[in-house]
Amino acid sequence: QVLNDLLDLKGNIRVFCRVRPFTSGENLERLGPVVALDTGSLLLKLADNKSKRYTFDKVFHPGSSQDGVFSEVEPVIKSVLDGYNACIFAYGQTGTGKTFTMEGTSDSPGIVPRTIEALFKQSAESNHTFLVTFSMLEIYLGNLKDLLVPQPMRPTDPLPPCLSIQSDPKGGIEIENLVTIQVSDFNQALKLYRLGCRLRSTASTNSNTTSSRSHCMIRISITCFNAPERRRETNKIWLVDLGGSERVMKTKAWGRRLDEGKAINLSLSALGDVINALQRNKNHIPYRNSKLTQVLKDSLGEDSKTLMLVHVSPKEEDLCETICSLNFATRVK
Ligand code: ADP
Ligand code: MG
Repeated sequence: QVLNDLLDLKGNIRVFCRVRPFTSGENLERLGPVVALDTGSLLLKLADNKSKRYTFDKVFHPGSSQDGVFSEVEPVIKSVLDGYNACIFAYGQTGTGKTFTMEGTSDSPGIVPRTIEALFKQSAESNHTFLVTFSMLEIYLGNLKDLLVPQPMRPTDPLPPCLSIQSDPKGGIEIENLVTIQVSDFNQALKLYRLGCRLRSTASTNSNTTSSRSHCMIRISITCFNAPERRRETNKIWLVDLGGSERVMKTKAWGRRLDEGKAINLSLSALGDVINALQRNKNHIPYRNSKLTQVLKDSLGEDSKTLMLVHVSPKEEDLCETICSLNFATRVK
């Protein structure tokens, strides 16, 4: 509760930074340009002995554990049961650990499985009755795709219904035709999540790792029944593994890859613009500029909690992208 109060005092948008450790196969001897300072800042070593210091609400250094990360994320998840909407984003260049943070591995599960577990645990401990639903979708080249619906096997098979974004007069957002499944325990929800992850990766083997060129979004909605004091009946949390932020011109992409890169870059800057406008209390929040921000319109803003986890690589050759990511993080903080 004290933590939640602190979060309230500090506003609704948090920016964390996680530095990936060197992994096997990489040159472990060489020192990278990203230097750990303390739990809130890092130092970036640039050319000519120059360096730049960045500070965030939290900095996770290469040695940080999934447990350690989740304990800092947990207040945001708790706030969903207290009547807020929430969004947690993993941002960064491909290969910096976004999926590791969100999905994790079977040995070290990430934020998504831990969130599901925490939500069921906390709702069981509460005196209220909660109904939980699970949905999962992908945004690829500006199109929404349901990750709980298998894609047709043959060209003659019927296509699944199109997903479209509808807004109601009260400003709420509904995604028409999105499969939404009621889940009553951790295992049920985890099974759906695994199914969605599988559908995401099978699709990507067909078209050459589209998963790094798409946004993967999980929505968990929670309806609270017997709490008359609640401002809203249903609250939701979005857990988003964003497409890789690397700039498309540098990757010498062409054709479809160039289109994918442009789509990702556009939607990431639209997201940055929305969060930046919210942070500065602007009158106009430019939600309409991308599908990503349209989907999240009622979950980004006042009465919502936002957590941006910016991921960076420890490697010297990634320095340019690291600077870009840290600049993005600075712009939304
Ligand atoms: P992204 O989703 O950003 O493209 P991944 O999550 O796939 O990146 O990470 C790239 C590789 O680095 C994977 O093999 C992953 O297991 C490993 N990795 C990333 N972050 C960590 C970490 N904090 N600790 C250990 N291994 C990590
Ligand atoms: Mg990934």
